[in-house]
Amino acid sequence: MADRRLTDRQRERIQRLRDNRQQRAARRLDALNDAGLGPERTGLVIAHHGQTLIVEADDRQWYRCTARQNLGRLACGDRVIWQASGLEEGVVVAVGERRSLLSRPDYNGRPRPVAANLDVVAIVLAPEPELSEGLIDRYLVAIAAIGVRGLLVLNKLDLLDAPALAVLTERLEPYRRIGYPLLLTSSHTAHGLDELRAGMRGRVSLLVGQSGVGKSSLIKALLPDRDIRIQALSRLDGHGVHTTTTSMLYHLPDGGDLIDTPGVRGFELGEISLDDLDRGFPDLALYLGRCRFSDCRHEVEPGCAVRDAAARGEIAPRRLSSYRQLRAALENAARFWN
Ligand code: GDP
Ligand code: ZN
Repeated sequence: MADRRLTDRQRERIQRLRDNRQQRAARRLDALNDAGLGPERTGLVIAHHGQTLIVEADDRQWYRCTARQNLGRLACGDRVIWQASGLEEGVVVAVGERRSLLSRPDYNGRPRPVAANLDVVAIVLAPEPELSEGLIDRYLVAIAAIGVRGLLVLNKLDLLDAPALAVLTERLEPYRRIGYPLLLTSSHTAHGLDELRAGMRGRVSLLVGQSGVGKSSLIKALLPDRDIRIQALSRLDGHGVHTTTTSMLYHLPDGGDLIDTPGVRGFELGEISLDDLDRGFPDLALYLGRCRFSDCRHEVEPGCAVRDAAARGEIAPRRLSSYRQLRAALENAARFWN
C-alpha cells in the first residue's frame, strides 16, 4: 500500500499553491473594486440623512454616497474624497481635516457632528419671543468653544418703533463692545438682508436662536431656490429628504454657504471646559488671572479684579452674573446641558 502521507516538501508546495491562488483571487477582487469604482475625486457633503450622504462633486453634480466604516461620522460641510460607484452613487473614502466642528449630544449623550467647517454662527434674536442675555451668553460660549465667529442678528425690526429699538440696542451694546457685530433685519420687509448676506459672503454660516425668532423665514429669504433644491435632493435620495430631519448645506447666491441643521437651530452646548467658558467671555478674560486668589470665584472674595472691573463699569453687570451662573453650572455638572 502506497504511503499516503505527504512529505514535508509536498505539504509546503500545496500550501504555496493555495497561497498563490488566494493572492490571485484577492487581486481579482481588487481589480473588480477598481473597475467598479471611479477615480478618487474631491467633494463636499451637502446633505446628511441617516446613513446617506449627498456629496456634491466639484462640477456641482450630486451623488448619493455611503461612507467607509472607518471614517467615523461625517457632517454637512465636510470636505471628502469619494469614488463613484454608479451613475449617481458613490463611496466616501476619506475626510479632509476640519477647521471647525459643531457637535451635539445624540440620544446616548455621545457627541454627534452636525456641521463641519463653519466660519460664522449667527445668533438670531427678536423682540418676541423676548430675548435673553443668559441665552446669548450660552450661545457665545458654545461658539467660542468651537472657534468660529459669532454674529448677532436682531430680526423682526418691523415690530420695533424707535424707542423700543433704542432699548434693545442698548441691551445688546455690551456684545458690540466685545466685538460681536449686531445686524438689524426683518425677514418680512427684507430690511438688513444685504448686510446679512455681506456678513456671510465667502463663509460657511449657521443660524441659531430660540424658536419663533424668524430663523426659517430668514433662511427662506436668503435662499430663493431652496425649495427647488430640496425637491431635487429628495429625488436623488429616494427616501425623501425631510427638512425637519435632514441637515443641508446651501450655496448662497452671493457666495458662501449656509448650513441648515433643523435640530440645531435652537442648539445647546455639549461638553464645555472652564477654558471654553473663559474664551466665551473675552470681556472678563482680561481680568480673570488678576484676582488676589487664584481660585477666586468672583463672588465675595477680597481683591477680586473681576468685581472691581465691574464696579468701574468695565464689565457689564449682566455679563458677570451670566459668567457666575455658567461657571456654577459647569462645576455642578459633568455635562453642561443634559
Ligand atoms: P423660527 O422658529 O426661528 O424658524 O421662526 P419662523 O421663521 O418660523 O418665524 C416665527 C414667526 O415669526 C412666524 O410667524 C413668522 O411669520 C414671524 N416672523 C419671522 N420673521 C419676521 C419678521 O421679520 N417680522 C415679523 N413681524 N414677523 C416675523
Ligand atoms: Zn475674582
